[in-house]
Amino acid sequence: MSTPTSSSIETSNGSSFSLKDFLSSFMLGEFLKGLALTGKYTFRSKITLEYPEEKTPLSPRFRGLHALRRYENGEERCIACKLCEAVCPAMAITIESAVRADGSRRTTRYDIDFNKCIYCGFCEESCPVDSIVETPIFEYHGEAPGDLYFTKDMLLAVGDRYESQIAAARAADAKYR
Ligand code: SF4
Ligand code: SF4
Repeated sequence: MSTPTSSSIETSNGSSFSLKDFLSSFMLGEFLKGLALTGKYTFRSKITLEYPEEKTPLSPRFRGLHALRRYENGEERCIACKLCEAVCPAMAITIESAVRADGSRRTTRYDIDFNKCIYCGFCEESCPVDSIVETPIFEYHGEAPGDLYFTKDMLLAVGDRYESQIAAARAADAKYR
Protein backbone atom coordinates (compact mmCIF):
# COMPACT_ATOMS: atom_id res chain seq x y z
CA MET A 1 0.00 0.00 0.00
CA SER A 2 1.35 3.51 -0.87
CA THR A 3 2.07 5.99 1.90
CA PRO A 4 -0.23 9.06 1.72
CA THR A 5 1.66 12.35 1.14
CA SER A 6 0.65 15.93 1.83
CA SER A 7 -0.80 16.21 -1.70
CA SER A 8 -2.73 12.91 -1.55
CA ILE A 9 -6.02 11.90 0.01
CA GLU A 10 -6.61 8.61 1.82
CA THR A 11 -9.97 6.87 1.26
CA SER A 12 -11.91 4.79 3.78
CA ASN A 13 -10.57 1.49 2.30
CA GLY A 14 -6.96 2.63 2.75
CA SER A 15 -6.12 3.46 -0.88
CA SER A 16 -5.00 6.97 -1.80
CA PHE A 17 -5.07 9.25 -4.80
CA SER A 18 -3.45 12.59 -5.53
CA LEU A 19 -5.11 15.97 -5.49
CA LYS A 20 -4.09 16.38 -9.14
CA ASP A 21 -6.02 13.19 -10.04
CA PHE A 22 -9.03 14.41 -8.09
CA LEU A 23 -9.07 17.80 -9.85
CA SER A 24 -8.49 16.22 -13.24
CA SER A 25 -11.45 13.89 -12.66
CA PHE A 26 -13.61 16.72 -11.30
CA MET A 27 -12.87 18.94 -14.33
CA LEU A 28 -13.60 16.04 -16.76
CA GLY A 29 -9.95 16.09 -17.90
CA GLU A 30 -9.94 12.50 -19.24
CA PHE A 31 -13.26 13.08 -20.99
CA LEU A 32 -11.95 16.21 -22.75
CA LYS A 33 -8.73 14.39 -23.71
CA GLY A 34 -10.81 11.62 -25.29
CA LEU A 35 -12.99 14.15 -27.10
CA ALA A 36 -9.88 15.88 -28.48
CA LEU A 37 -8.56 12.55 -29.76
CA THR A 38 -11.88 11.79 -31.47
CA GLY A 39 -11.83 15.25 -33.05
CA LYS A 40 -8.27 14.72 -34.26
CA TYR A 41 -9.21 11.56 -36.21
CA THR A 42 -12.63 12.68 -37.44
CA PHE A 43 -11.31 14.33 -40.58
CA ARG A 44 -8.41 11.97 -41.30
CA SER A 45 -8.67 9.42 -44.12
CA LYS A 46 -10.29 6.19 -42.92
CA ILE A 47 -8.24 3.02 -42.58
CA THR A 48 -11.26 0.72 -42.28
CA LEU A 49 -12.75 -1.01 -45.34
CA GLU A 50 -16.37 -1.55 -46.34
CA TYR A 51 -16.23 -5.37 -46.47
CA PRO A 52 -17.38 -7.24 -48.55
CA GLU A 53 -17.43 -4.51 -51.23
CA GLU A 54 -13.83 -3.59 -50.36
CA LYS A 55 -11.14 -6.13 -49.53
CA THR A 56 -7.61 -6.09 -48.22
CA PRO A 57 -4.83 -7.47 -50.46
CA LEU A 58 -3.96 -11.13 -49.83
CA SER A 59 -0.52 -12.71 -49.76
CA PRO A 60 0.24 -15.25 -52.53
CA ARG A 61 0.82 -17.62 -49.59
CA PHE A 62 -2.69 -17.17 -48.21
CA ARG A 63 -4.04 -20.51 -46.99
CA GLY A 64 -7.69 -20.79 -47.94
CA LEU A 65 -9.88 -23.37 -49.65
CA HIS A 66 -7.91 -26.29 -51.07
CA ALA A 67 -7.84 -27.29 -54.73
CA LEU A 68 -6.48 -30.14 -56.79
CA ARG A 69 -4.73 -29.00 -59.95
CA ARG A 70 -4.35 -30.43 -63.44
CA TYR A 71 -1.67 -30.03 -66.07
CA GLU A 72 -2.47 -27.98 -69.18
CA ASN A 73 -3.40 -31.15 -71.09
CA GLY A 74 -6.12 -31.90 -68.54
CA GLU A 75 -4.27 -34.71 -66.78
CA GLU A 76 -4.54 -34.49 -63.01
CA ARG A 77 -1.24 -33.74 -61.32
CA CYS A 78 -1.74 -35.97 -58.30
CA ILE A 79 0.30 -39.19 -58.46
CA ALA A 80 -1.26 -40.69 -55.34
CA CYS A 81 1.98 -40.68 -53.36
CA LYS A 82 -0.05 -40.00 -50.20
CA LEU A 83 2.56 -37.69 -48.69
CA CYS A 84 -0.13 -35.08 -47.99
CA GLU A 85 -2.28 -37.66 -46.23
CA ALA A 86 0.67 -38.80 -44.12
CA VAL A 87 1.76 -35.30 -43.13
CA CYS A 88 -1.68 -33.90 -42.33
CA PRO A 89 -1.72 -33.34 -38.54
CA ALA A 90 -5.51 -33.20 -38.44
CA MET A 91 -5.98 -36.43 -40.39
CA ALA A 92 -8.34 -34.50 -42.66
CA ILE A 93 -7.23 -36.14 -45.92
CA THR A 94 -8.37 -39.58 -47.09
CA ILE A 95 -6.83 -41.09 -50.19
CA GLU A 96 -7.39 -44.37 -52.01
CA SER A 97 -5.52 -45.23 -55.18
CA ALA A 98 -5.24 -47.72 -57.99
CA VAL A 99 -2.96 -48.41 -60.94
CA ARG A 100 -4.43 -47.42 -64.29
CA ALA A 101 -4.24 -49.44 -67.49
CA ASP A 102 -1.25 -47.34 -68.63
CA GLY A 103 0.66 -48.31 -65.46
CA SER A 104 0.41 -44.90 -63.75
CA ARG A 105 -0.96 -44.64 -60.24
CA ARG A 106 -3.84 -42.26 -59.60
CA THR A 107 -6.25 -41.60 -56.77
CA THR A 108 -9.66 -43.22 -56.85
CA ARG A 109 -10.64 -41.23 -53.80
CA TYR A 110 -9.27 -37.93 -52.48
CA ASP A 111 -11.36 -36.35 -49.75
CA ILE A 112 -10.66 -33.45 -47.41
CA ASP A 113 -12.81 -32.85 -44.36
CA PHE A 114 -12.62 -29.09 -43.79
CA ASN A 115 -14.26 -29.50 -40.40
CA LYS A 116 -10.96 -31.03 -39.33
CA CYS A 117 -8.52 -28.99 -41.44
CA ILE A 118 -6.48 -26.40 -39.55
CA TYR A 119 -5.09 -24.76 -42.72
CA CYS A 120 -1.51 -25.42 -41.72
CA GLY A 121 -0.36 -25.80 -45.33
CA PHE A 122 1.64 -28.99 -44.70
CA CYS A 123 -0.21 -30.85 -47.48
CA GLU A 124 0.71 -28.16 -50.00
CA GLU A 125 4.33 -28.08 -48.84
CA SER A 126 4.70 -31.85 -49.05
CA CYS A 127 3.25 -32.30 -52.52
CA PRO A 128 6.01 -33.08 -55.05
CA VAL A 129 3.91 -32.12 -58.08
CA ASP A 130 2.08 -28.96 -56.94
CA SER A 131 -1.20 -30.84 -57.03
CA ILE A 132 -2.86 -30.02 -53.71
CA VAL A 133 -2.73 -26.27 -53.11
CA GLU A 134 -4.45 -23.74 -50.94
CA THR A 135 -6.21 -20.94 -52.78
CA PRO A 136 -6.97 -17.34 -51.73
CA ILE A 137 -10.66 -18.29 -51.40
CA PHE A 138 -11.94 -17.83 -47.87
CA GLU A 139 -15.57 -16.89 -48.46
CA TYR A 140 -17.20 -20.28 -48.13
CA HIS A 141 -19.13 -21.97 -45.40
CA GLY A 142 -21.22 -24.99 -44.55
CA GLU A 143 -24.66 -25.10 -43.00
CA ALA A 144 -25.42 -28.81 -42.84
CA PRO A 145 -23.26 -31.69 -41.63
CA GLY A 146 -21.11 -32.79 -44.53
CA ASP A 147 -21.17 -29.44 -46.37
CA LEU A 148 -17.46 -29.00 -45.68
CA TYR A 149 -16.54 -32.52 -46.73
CA PHE A 150 -14.95 -32.10 -50.16
CA THR A 151 -14.50 -35.01 -52.55
CA LYS A 152 -11.92 -35.34 -55.30
CA ASP A 153 -14.36 -34.06 -57.95
CA MET A 154 -15.15 -30.99 -55.83
CA LEU A 155 -11.46 -30.26 -55.24
CA LEU A 156 -10.66 -30.69 -58.94
CA ALA A 157 -13.56 -28.36 -59.78
CA VAL A 158 -12.10 -25.69 -57.48
CA GLY A 159 -8.74 -26.15 -59.20
CA ASP A 160 -10.28 -25.92 -62.69
CA ARG A 161 -12.17 -22.78 -61.80
CA TYR A 162 -9.34 -20.88 -60.14
CA GLU A 163 -6.31 -22.23 -62.00
CA SER A 164 -5.28 -18.81 -63.35
CA GLN A 165 -5.30 -17.29 -59.84
CA ILE A 166 -3.49 -20.31 -58.39
CA ALA A 167 -0.81 -20.23 -61.10
CA ALA A 168 -0.31 -16.46 -60.65
CA ALA A 169 0.08 -16.85 -56.87
CA ARG A 170 2.60 -19.69 -57.29
CA ALA A 171 4.58 -17.68 -59.84
CA ALA A 172 4.68 -14.64 -57.50
CA ASP A 173 6.00 -16.80 -54.66
CA ALA A 174 8.31 -19.06 -56.73
CA LYS A 175 11.56 -17.20 -55.96
CA TYR A 176 11.04 -17.64 -52.22
CA ARG A 177 10.46 -21.40 -52.36
S1 SF4 B 1 -3.87 -27.63 -44.47
FE1 SF4 B 1 -2.97 -28.93 -42.86
S2 SF4 B 1 -4.73 -29.69 -41.73
FE2 SF4 B 1 -5.54 -28.93 -43.67
S3 SF4 B 1 -5.57 -30.71 -45.03
FE3 SF4 B 1 -3.60 -29.68 -45.36
S4 SF4 B 1 -2.16 -30.69 -43.96
FE4 SF4 B 1 -4.26 -31.23 -43.28
S1 SF4 C 1 -1.77 -34.34 -53.71
FE1 SF4 C 1 0.46 -34.40 -53.95
S2 SF4 C 1 1.22 -35.16 -51.99
FE2 SF4 C 1 -0.97 -35.65 -52.08
S3 SF4 C 1 -1.07 -37.73 -52.90
FE3 SF4 C 1 -1.27 -36.30 -54.62
S4 SF4 C 1 0.82 -36.05 -55.38
FE4 SF4 C 1 1.00 -36.94 -53.33
